[in-house]
Amino acid sequence: MAGVGDSGGAGARSRELFARARDVIPGGVDSPVRAFGAVGGTPPFVARGEGAYVVDADGRRFLDYVQSWGALLFGHARPEIVRAAAEAAALGTSFGAPTEGEVRLAELIVSAVPSVEMVRLVSSGTEAAMSALRLARGFTGRERILKFEGCYHGHADALLAAAGSGVATLGLPGAAGVTAGAVRDTIVVPYNDFEAADAAFDEAGEQLACVIVEPVAANMGVVAPARGFLERLRGECDRLGALLVFDEVITGFRVAWGGAQSLFGVTPDLTVLGKVMGGGFPCAAFGGRREIMERLAPLGPVYQAGTLAGNPVAVAAGIASLQLAREEDPYEELERRAAGLAGGLQEAFAGAGVPATVNRVSTLVSVFFTEGPVTDYAAARASAHDTYARFFHGMLECGIALAPSGYEAWFPSAAHGDAEIDRTLEAARAVARSLA
Ligand code: PMP
Repeated sequence: MAGVGDSGGAGARSRELFARARDVIPGGVDSPVRAFGAVGGTPPFVARGEGAYVVDADGRRFLDYVQSWGALLFGHARPEIVRAAAEAAALGTSFGAPTEGEVRLAELIVSAVPSVEMVRLVSSGTEAAMSALRLARGFTGRERILKFEGCYHGHADALLAAAGSGVATLGLPGAAGVTAGAVRDTIVVPYNDFEAADAAFDEAGEQLACVIVEPVAANMGVVAPARGFLERLRGECDRLGALLVFDEVITGFRVAWGGAQSLFGVTPDLTVLGKVMGGGFPCAAFGGRREIMERLAPLGPVYQAGTLAGNPVAVAAGIASLQLAREEDPYEELERRAAGLAGGLQEAFAGAGVPATVNRVSTLVSVFFTEGPVTDYAAARASAHDTYARFFHGMLECGIALAPSGYEAWFPSAAHGDAEIDRTLEAARAVARSLA
């Protein structure tokens, strides 16, 4: 297979498709990180997926750790989820009227996530976070918000300040088109920095509507919350009468059935969900305490709506995904495999003399090419992203597809068995040696 310089991972058919795509789609992709900008080369176009694997347009098979950026807890095309979606589609794809499925999915979410008494379904994590923010402001009658450097909450204007993930991958200082006014009320402080957070709380005082945080940061690579950090945020929000919003779009139904809030025992006022709860379809949600949620239209004055919100096909897939999660309870096994993966990767880099830090929280893993520790965005940025690009391409040549950016998590799924983990580690050992 050719190196990064020319095809960079893609076969002839993918290269042809990418050329056509770039003519009609900006950058050839519908979401920027897919374009391989941070690692160089041409992205393989995916034709299909099965379990832990994807097959590209040239018929090549890759062991896939992207898993739709964490949307797939059970791997690709899990039959129960596909069947549920197909059966729902046959009955009509969208009504713009209430359906039983929405009630069932909402009941499942309420039963799982400790802080959620009521929930509203939307179509993307971006929409969910944006709506939760509006609700927090509407409920408190306050304007200012606090977020953390390197946490991504979708691309709503007010949340695009220091947003990690794709914005970081592209090396953008911020995002053009976001007005100064839109982020004027957004305070940004480093993740895990108690002092900076305390200073922000004192400064914003009773103007603070909410704090929004990824309870496990997973858009600057994976970074665990420092001991006591989430508790401190809870305490300060209580002191000031601000709402605590957990963005569990990645962690929800992935680090545990009850999400990160159940792992850490800290209860937010509002929770933002997406990815796993949609079973790979456009379906997301925000929910929380009843008295807050009842401020939403039609009950209250905070407006939010959607033609395709609670779409019956997406909802059917979401129910199937959550039912599998509840019934198969994959978390312990998945965490055991993720631990084996993280430990094996750390050994592979140590064995090759490559400075690297492997962070893991529950089932989420990521690799930083730096001595570490990596506890915030500054450290994540300071790691060697050029080394990540070489590692990425080395792994791709071994048939293993990682996220095309060092700011992203690895998403082993329940379909990644011990054989897949072993194969990954074997490849990692070989590629690590080539990096030294
Ligand atoms: N919040 C978090 C924590 C995310 O990781 C993401 C997407 N990766 C979003 C929000 C936005 O979700 P979406 O891409 O569905 O708009």
